[in-house]
Amino acid sequence: MADRPVIASRSVPEAAPLPGRGAGPAGALEAFENRRAPVLSASAGPRYLGFVTGGTTPAALLGDWTTAVWDQNPVSGSTGPGRRWNARRSAGSVSCSGCPSSTTAPSSAAPPCPNLAGLAVAREWLGERSGVSPAECGRRHSVPSACCPRRHSSVPKALSVLGLGRRSLTRLPTLPGREAVDPRALARILDGNGEPCVVVANAGTVNTGDFDDLRALAALRERYGFWLHVDRAFGAFASLVPSHAALVDGLEEADSLCVDLHKWLNVPYGSAVQFTRRPDPRGPFALARDDDLAGAQR
Ligand SMILES: *Cc1c(COP(=O)(O)O)cnc(C)c1O
Repeated sequence: MADRPVIASRSVPEAAPLPGRGAGPAGALEAFENRRAPVLSASAGPRYLGFVTGGTTPAALLGDWTTAVWDQNPVSGSTGPGRRWNARRSAGSVSCSGCPSSTTAPSSAAPPCPNLAGLAVAREWLGERSGVSPAECGRRHSVPSACCPRRHSSVPKALSVLGLGRRSLTRLPTLPGREAVDPRALARILDGNGEPCVVVANAGTVNTGDFDDLRALAALRERYGFWLHVDRAFGAFASLVPSHAALVDGLEEADSLCVDLHKWLNVPYGSAVQFTRRPDPRGPFALARDDDLAGAQR
């Protein structure tokens, strides 16, 4: 990995015609090594600085291979204590429940999790305010506004997938020289907004690693009653480091939050967890309802 090019010098080969007969595992591997491997990026290597892809440590690979070999369905299988540990360690003593949300190539057309999962729960909360469940009925109420300072690109993507709309996003002013939201400016915007809305806060912005003042935002929520989603994909694990834990002070106030495991935990790409204080039995992630499981078993 250390010697391989981060950007391949060769171009991607033309697709070969679909063969009439399969080449078998060894033949397929050989074709992969000859045709595909030379144009792959050495993203697991030490000189790759493009994205925080993760998955470069032996422990990460061990976890990934074990996951693939055991191939559990997270709805019906036992996922063990990992989620509870994660909730306790990264969210303090807050009572919340988590669900794994595979991020699946967020920058492509695939669903832009992990913020998607949290905002889907927020959408359910918005729907309740007008007496409908969007997960059950589709969304037939007026467009709420979602506010957010320097948001990650997955936030507008999630709003688009959920039918809330990219245009529902209000970009908030930040504090001078910072990427953190200016709580006073947010209060002024909320003063002029009569509708229920979602505020997306950051715990670790992607460019400069800035953190919003979550206590100040929680105080505003007391006054205005919005849904507080915290994008802590990057900054979650600051809570484990005593010298940095103050950065995520107030995190337990979040209504929903997402954590990327492929950032500081360096597990392979596509691993994230979403936590919410509202594991809504009729919400979008109610896949494990008894009737669904019974149906699946039938
Ligand atoms: C990485 C990141 C995300 C999610 O991106 P994925 O590539 O899907 O993990 C969301 N928000 C922030 C601030 C991030 O750093």
